[in-house]
Amino acid sequence: MTERFAHDRAKLGDFIALKFGMLVRSLCLEFPILKVLVLGAGVIGVTTAYYLARAGHEVTVVERQPGPALETSFANAGQVSPGYSSPWAAPSIPRKAPRWLLMKYAPLILRPRVDPAMIQWGLAMLRNCTPSRYVRNKERMVRLAEYSRDQLMALRAETGIAYDGRAQGTLQLFRTERQLEDSAKDVKVLNHEGVPCEVLDKAGCIAAEPGLARSEATIVGGLRLPNDETGDCHIFTTRLAEMAAELGVVFRFNETVEWIATQANEVTAVRTDKGDLTADAYVVALGSYSTRMLKPLGLGLPVYPVKGYSITVPIADEPGAPVSTVMDETYKIAITRLGDRIRVGGMAELGGYSHDLPPHQQATLEHSLTTLFPGAGDVGAAKYWTGLRPMTPDGTPVIGRTKYKGLWLSTGHGTLGWTMACGSGRVLADLISGIKPEVETADLEIARYA
Ligand SMILES: Cc1cc2nc3c(=O)[nH]c(=O)nc-3n(C[C@H](O)[C@H](O)[C@H](O)COP(=O)(O)OP(=O)(O)OC[C@H]3O[C@@H](n4cnc5c(N)ncnc54)[C@H](O)[C@@H]3O)c2cc1C
Repeated sequence: MTERFAHDRAKLGDFIALKFGMLVRSLCLEFPILKVLVLGAGVIGVTTAYYLARAGHEVTVVERQPGPALETSFANAGQVSPGYSSPWAAPSIPRKAPRWLLMKYAPLILRPRVDPAMIQWGLAMLRNCTPSRYVRNKERMVRLAEYSRDQLMALRAETGIAYDGRAQGTLQLFRTERQLEDSAKDVKVLNHEGVPCEVLDKAGCIAAEPGLARSEATIVGGLRLPNDETGDCHIFTTRLAEMAAELGVVFRFNETVEWIATQANEVTAVRTDKGDLTADAYVVALGSYSTRMLKPLGLGLPVYPVKGYSITVPIADEPGAPVSTVMDETYKIAITRLGDRIRVGGMAELGGYSHDLPPHQQATLEHSLTTLFPGAGDVGAAKYWTGLRPMTPDGTPVIGRTKYKGLWLSTGHGTLGWTMACGSGRVLADLISGIKPEVETADLEIARYA
């Protein structure tokens, strides 16, 4: 099938599906209807299940929690931010990281332990800090994130899905001249990718986010990304799961995947604590836990859990609150307006799979909020949370086929799983359906680590 024909067929398929339903689409265009098992009901698993069901497939989702998005997708910082899609492995990291570790309100925390996976991941991440790798990684992240934002907009238009969302851009806020200077390389990539952005002085930042006028912190300037959006990932995922169920997706909650059985480079079944499940295709969307699941299959997925924290506070002073997302570059913390709440999220902690909630990390989040938006939120009523970002060393997620027939991956979305969810779901549903995705995906496959 030529690329052009595959693309046109996909568009025609969307049109028929919208007008006459999935079954008619499958019959008209001879798409094979597949039985697909999606492992994991985070934002990635649920979007994938939704787009697969929309393409006419019979989909089952297995999830160990009692509902969707109850792990890392639960209380993230809420940014749908293609413009802020950057790998953490940046040329400035080897210079900045030691300083970050020593800061009072540290954006980076290292819990020393004997963990070969952590050491290997850290070294691979440092190898990605060269200028050329940074540009390559950022380009593919921005490509998927931009596509994803467009898919999210289309989904909103089609379904009316609501999730405390806002489409008022994001503002990366610089407290030092050096941060402002460092942003020049990002502006270059954004211009190259055609992503609108504007560099602002302090007055421009306050015009975009009037609540900042009350701040006594030093504000040097900012980078505004007017096309970025925000929203509550847990609400979105829960509502999309309901819509997927209406399309026929079966959710098997409270069921834990134990292992994936294979024979001669083919998946034969998935063993759960409730028995064996079989399908034509299997999608691993287990977030940070994908690595452990794939190891016995000889698939070396370099995804490591990078822990982050958030607080959610009720708005106490409406005019003083953020209107959208402000990214505090000094502490790497995002402050986001979600309806009548403010979500403050960030920090990167390397130290395994612990879910503990140390008081000091909460203090860091509160410090960022109260210095930039004093009095805006009721910090005393904060809900404190932690999640494990499934991070690859190059920042780019792993999406696509594996060497096992019928085994597909969508994981490793790191800091940007909410931003990249709809695009990731759509491209994987297209690949499984035998349709060429609308954006390039070959360089997202696990084969890039071979
Ligand atoms: C503090 C913080 C702030 C963030 N801010 C943003 C942001 O502003 N914007 C953004 O785009 N991204 C953000 N992220 C990243 C984003 O939250 C993640 O990339 C995304 O949630 C990953 O989704 P996932 O579906 O891959 O993983 P998960 O949400 O973790 O889903 C995986 C699912 O698999 C299930 N599972 C695991 N093992 C098994 C098993 N054996 N059997 C059955 N089920 C299993 C889990 O229960 C879970 O529900 C942030 C993350 C953190 C921690």
